[in-house]
Amino acid sequence: MPATTIARIRATPVTVPLEAPIRHSNGAHWGRFVRTIVEVETNDGYVGLGEMGGGGEDAARAFAGLESYLAGHDVFALEALRLKICNPTASLYNNRTQLHAAIEFACLDIIGKKLGVPVHALLGGKLRDRVAFASYLFYRYADPVTGRGEVRTLEQLVAHARELKAKHGFTSHKLKGGVFPPAHELACYRAVAAALPGEGMRYDPNGALSFDDAVHFGQAIEDLRNDYYEDPVFGIAQMRALRDFVRIPLATNTVVVNFEQLAANAAMRAVDVVLLDTTFWGGIRPCIKAAGVCETLGTQVAVHSSGELGIQLATMLHLGAVLPNLGYAADAHYHHLVDDVIEGGPLRYEGGAIRVPDGPGLGVTLDREKLARYHELYRELGSYPYDRDPGRPGWFAHVPNRDWADPADARVPALGR
Ligand SMILES: [Mg+2]
Repeated sequence: MPATTIARIRATPVTVPLEAPIRHSNGAHWGRFVRTIVEVETNDGYVGLGEMGGGGEDAARAFAGLESYLAGHDVFALEALRLKICNPTASLYNNRTQLHAAIEFACLDIIGKKLGVPVHALLGGKLRDRVAFASYLFYRYADPVTGRGEVRTLEQLVAHARELKAKHGFTSHKLKGGVFPPAHELACYRAVAAALPGEGMRYDPNGALSFDDAVHFGQAIEDLRNDYYEDPVFGIAQMRALRDFVRIPLATNTVVVNFEQLAANAAMRAVDVVLLDTTFWGGIRPCIKAAGVCETLGTQVAVHSSGELGIQLATMLHLGAVLPNLGYAADAHYHHLVDDVIEGGPLRYEGGAIRVPDGPGLGVTLDREKLARYHELYRELGSYPYDRDPGRPGWFAHVPNRDWADPADARVPALGR
């Protein structure tokens, strides 16, 4: 078979609106996601798709800088690709793990297209046709244009959880916290659990809690049906210390995101559930390798969301499809988006799950009209600072945080649009 080699890399930043600005411990997504859509073109006419985030910023120039490194590279040579882009000692100077992820997605997409098989078939074969997702509950500012979508109070959060369950069928529910004082978030979390009895719950303040707050929050929810307690404090050592005081499985997507950290976690037995992110780990294949290590060690795994449009979502679906030890519903930000850049998108949830694509490659196709429309929206609105809060100018997050947003403050910040 003649070689299929990389000829060009095209990267296009797009802005896709969210229903409302979503808040997290470091700030907010300012009413939109900025994502960089990557197209890898080959010498023989294939085009593979990749996608990357970037904290509200455009990553196109970073991909342009990779083109000279990868011209002529055989897309089937995936281990060599990893070493070319993110050799671990070279990476001390030019950390390109997330760039590698997007190129790996595109190469897998091309291999699948060339062979006429879905990516999951290249990864050992799917074990399930659908991947279940949790509702991802965020505190939200009201949309400044429509005035709708605010989630700040306990009543608003419960109504939002009920609405998402009715619309998409979720049976697990994750609250993204670290925004308001822990006492307010605790009352909100317990209210959602009471409103949806028997369903799985998970709380994730992105490492913002002090050790003392994390102990008391954890002990106050031990009676609930918790899937896990996600990154309540920051750091493997603090998570290890916390487990002596809280009887809930601890999960992370922040401090076990590479193999060195996986080894440290194995030695310390700090975290029970490793949330595998196809971007943070540098691709789908590293996630599968990590899942194999976890299976051997008795560490649980699930699929993490760092924000996604349909291309990244497809990588999460293919990953979720092939993991024998997938123990929990995956997370996705996807249902907060109002649209997507793929044909037929947004993909639909049925019974809280999304069907794994079976078409060649990743099984999703770019909608050129939407790509152009949302690229234009990016040009119009520009980037946004993911790690700043539009409602609190001058504020920035400390770890642990002590300066929380005020749950009585109903103001709607301007978002520069
Ligand atoms: Mg998390």
